[in-house]
Amino acid sequence: MALIVQKYGGTSVGSVERIQTVAQRIQKTVQQGNTVVVVVSAMGKTTDTLVSLAQEITANPSRREMDMLLSTGEQVTIALMTMALQEIGQAAISLTGAQVGIVTEAEYSRARILSIKPDRIKRHLDKAEVVVVAGFQGISSRENLEITTLGRGGSDTSAVALAAALKASFCEIYTDVPGILTTDPRIVPEARLMDEITCDEMLELASLGAKVLHPRAVEIARNYGVRLVVRSSWSDAPGTSVISPIPKPRSLEGLEIAKAVDAVEFDGEQAKIALLRVPDRPGIAARLFGEIAHQQVDVDLIIQSIHEGNSNDIAFTVINNVLTKAEAVAEAIAPALRTTPSNVTEAEVMVETGVAKISIAGAGMIGRPGIAATMFKTLAEANINIEMISTSEVKVSCVVAKEDGDRAIKVLCEAFDVELSPNPVASQAVEVSPPVRGVALDQKQAQIAIRHVKDKPGMAASIFGVLAENNISVDTIIQSQRCRILDGMPTRDIAFTVCEGDAKAACQVLSSLSDGFDEVIVDEDIAKVSIVGAGMVGQPGVAAKFFGALATENINIKMIATSEIKISCVVPKEQGVKALKAVHQAFELAGIEKVEVSA
Ligand code: ADP
Ligand code: ASP
Ligand code: MG
Repeated sequence: MALIVQKYGGTSVGSVERIQTVAQRIQKTVQQGNTVVVVVSAMGKTTDTLVSLAQEITANPSRREMDMLLSTGEQVTIALMTMALQEIGQAAISLTGAQVGIVTEAEYSRARILSIKPDRIKRHLDKAEVVVVAGFQGISSRENLEITTLGRGGSDTSAVALAAALKASFCEIYTDVPGILTTDPRIVPEARLMDEITCDEMLELASLGAKVLHPRAVEIARNYGVRLVVRSSWSDAPGTSVISPIPKPRSLEGLEIAKAVDAVEFDGEQAKIALLRVPDRPGIAARLFGEIAHQQVDVDLIIQSIHEGNSNDIAFTVINNVLTKAEAVAEAIAPALRTTPSNVTEAEVMVETGVAKISIAGAGMIGRPGIAATMFKTLAEANINIEMISTSEVKVSCVVAKEDGDRAIKVLCEAFDVELSPNPVASQAVEVSPPVRGVALDQKQAQIAIRHVKDKPGMAASIFGVLAENNISVDTIIQSQRCRILDGMPTRDIAFTVCEGDAKAACQVLSSLSDGFDEVIVDEDIAKVSIVGAGMVGQPGVAAKFFGALATENINIKMIATSEIKISCVVPKEQGVKALKAVHQAFELAGIEKVEVSA
């Protein structure tokens, strides 16, 4: 007999009929000999409706009252679902987040789970009752018992956390699509269903805008080894398995806050190649990386920050032993990128050997301001200069001088209380995963560029430190290769993306830092398109195909940032959908059958 946690999303419980159908599915699962805990969302668009109601009263509702309001949505569903179960003769009881002991931080609207006390659930399960739990909500520490919510989409997180606490055999997420698809089917109806996806891939996709799973749910599944399946509540099809290696056992105390960083990763055998002052127009990255792929050279990090005037710098790293080949390609292509063939000040190639890439990795850094800042500060205190930065949702990578490598490893391992990973992703042969598993579009971000930041240790630390102090969560961070000497001082640009709503606050916060850079430029007119796949490690040509697809559509790339298993491009907002479609098609991700999206 298995203990199963089943979670039903808003559409799946959107009407009385749907609730009755779901009740039957739950009863069937029990009749097959299983013990079932059910987690439900608010019915249909209830949460959105509650948000609009609040907005009719005030543009600035208090976060405490918002949680008080929004948590009611799920409470309606638990009662109705339990009645529906009882009506068909299935013993059941509804319980709120507080009643099942989902204890969270006292942080309204985005609380993380600290612990779950499953005793009460177990008592009911022992009496052969189905326990129907309100998703998305919790209660702050025992004394003041404040109602909190976990953030929009948080019912997935409630379900997986309960599965971890109850040591459930598996957790099923029932939703309105047949499982996890290669991209959002509302934008690309040809999206294909995946049989499986790794937790690492799903974490990147979920944080990049694939709404089907809350990223924090994936993080818990990975940390606690919860077997996770995403399925349609309209059919019996198997759906998508979200797989992960069996993790080291860990305590359930501090469930979501235990460790933001899992490991430090290091690659000391890298070289950096930069093409300086290439034209800022569609097709340039495609041409460069197309040639490089043609020579079967695998590139690791790729970084392109904001343009200056009408030119851009693109930098990438390769492993040392392919440097000569990569450099030859870059040298050969540079003249073709000059506006006038004789103008050698344009499109210059710069090579630097003896660099190292050092990264911190961990799903716990998602939505938690300050992790990147701590890394930058730690390096600064050890007087290590950061040459380039590229971040993904679950990783921050810095290029530093190789001679600083050992010290960088030591100080970062101490700062985050972790060990150096013996087996970083870059050196793992991932055979099971295709080079690109899925693509995602995030249209809710703004790009902020800080021009001419003094190139000395500590600058990135102070910039991201002050943002973190103000609780602003920074997404992709890019520090480019471009170096300008101003008043005898080398400077570089640092750019990052934040959630649209945080852009204004971020600028205000940055203006309080008077020294160290020239200006802050905000661009709200952006979208981020990303490809994710564990199989792209060691596969030449993936980036080239991505950039090529954008070039064919005449889409200019504003920024590029990569991790081992992800490449993201910032493009103009109005071209985001076109970009997503082109990239999905370029990687031949479309399915034969059109995916049915239930309404
Ligand atoms: P629920 O209410 O069941 O939690 P959500 O609306 O939160 O459902 O998430 C499911 C929706 O996520 C789908 O209807 C789909 O439109 C959207 N979606 C975005 N990206 C993907 C993807 N890669 N795979 C599947 N669905 C996706
Ligand atoms: N009802 C909440 C929301 O709409 C939580 C969830 O459905 O996951 O965000
Ligand atoms: Mg959801």
